[in-house]
Amino acid sequence: MDTKKSINTIGVLGGGQLGMFLCKESKKLNLKTIILSENENCSASKFCDKLFIGKFDDFDVIKNFIEKVDVVTIETENVPLKTLLFIEEKIKLKPSSKIIEIAQNRIKEKKFLNSLDGISTTEFVEINHFEDLLKAFNRFGRELLIKSSEFGYDGKNQFKINIKNISKFKNLNLNGFIAEKIVDFEKEISVISFRDYKGNIEYLPPVHNVHKDNILKSTTYPPDISLETKRKAIEYTKRITLKLNLIGILAVEMFVLKNGEVIINELAPRPHNSGHWSLDCCKINQFENLLRAISEQKVLAPKILSGGIMKNLIGKEYQKNIISKKNIKIYDYFKKTIKEKRKMGHVTYIKKL
Ligand code: AMP
Repeated sequence: MDTKKSINTIGVLGGGQLGMFLCKESKKLNLKTIILSENENCSASKFCDKLFIGKFDDFDVIKNFIEKVDVVTIETENVPLKTLLFIEEKIKLKPSSKIIEIAQNRIKEKKFLNSLDGISTTEFVEINHFEDLLKAFNRFGRELLIKSSEFGYDGKNQFKINIKNISKFKNLNLNGFIAEKIVDFEKEISVISFRDYKGNIEYLPPVHNVHKDNILKSTTYPPDISLETKRKAIEYTKRITLKLNLIGILAVEMFVLKNGEVIINELAPRPHNSGHWSLDCCKINQFENLLRAISEQKVLAPKILSGGIMKNLIGKEYQKNIISKKNIKIYDYFKKTIKEKRKMGHVTYIKKL
């Protein structure tokens, strides 16, 4: 039995679908949720106990928000570091600002990961000017990716550079970008870890992720990977989790290379799209385990009940009023307007194991 909780109200920075699922799940654990969102029509608005509207750098709103909650977590890593530090000075922030700081900046993230013995990322260099880009272009085989080191997600601020288009980048402000070698991976996988205040760790095991135009299209469990790849993926996730002294959640996205090597693509210290299958295929889903971890309860083994394929409904793939059936679960994110590349909902096809 869990001991009596001293944490009753969870504050969430961000009110998108990840915040929405946290609010829904919190009811099971008898926790209240307060959302701080920059958008009053956000997905979480219908499900939270209280909604604050304000910018993440509006310290008056932040002050009011943290007065009402016992711990703060994030559903997006794009929160100014100054805000995170301000919150952490006054109240628990889980995962910690140190972890979010690493995950919100690709340079810090890649340097941290490569500093761990036996763990590596794609090859990359920091660039600031077109001359740096040219050097990297020649070094990485005359084709590469450039990504902004901060505020890039779902392919935003990412460009593929080749001999045909490189000249277009001559006059672009490349300050704070990285150039990354393109890897010819066999598969993309991810593992999600949960760690509580007492140091108990649980994992959602590796899943196979397919991206299109840099946005997650589908996640499949179980993945068709070798036992050795599975072992490595979980071991790396465990080592990263322990090194960061995580309390909360950490998603680790990885590339499996053709030679069997597993390298890390990126980290996300928040609920992750590739964990949505757990809503229908596990007894304890990713949102419940995050809430447990940060509210001083014990994280639990996910207890997998079935296999599943999760597909994102992006832009016009989404249709209103589609109804779930026995083994097909449909989720609506209640977004006001359909936009190209916008995640509008998802569907999970439950499969027998
Ligand atoms: P990211 O925002 O870095 O996670 O990139 C989004 C997606 O773009 C990844 O999930 C991959 O499908 C693809 N991608 C990113 N970096 C690379 C790379 N260095 N080589 C090949 N594909 C990549």
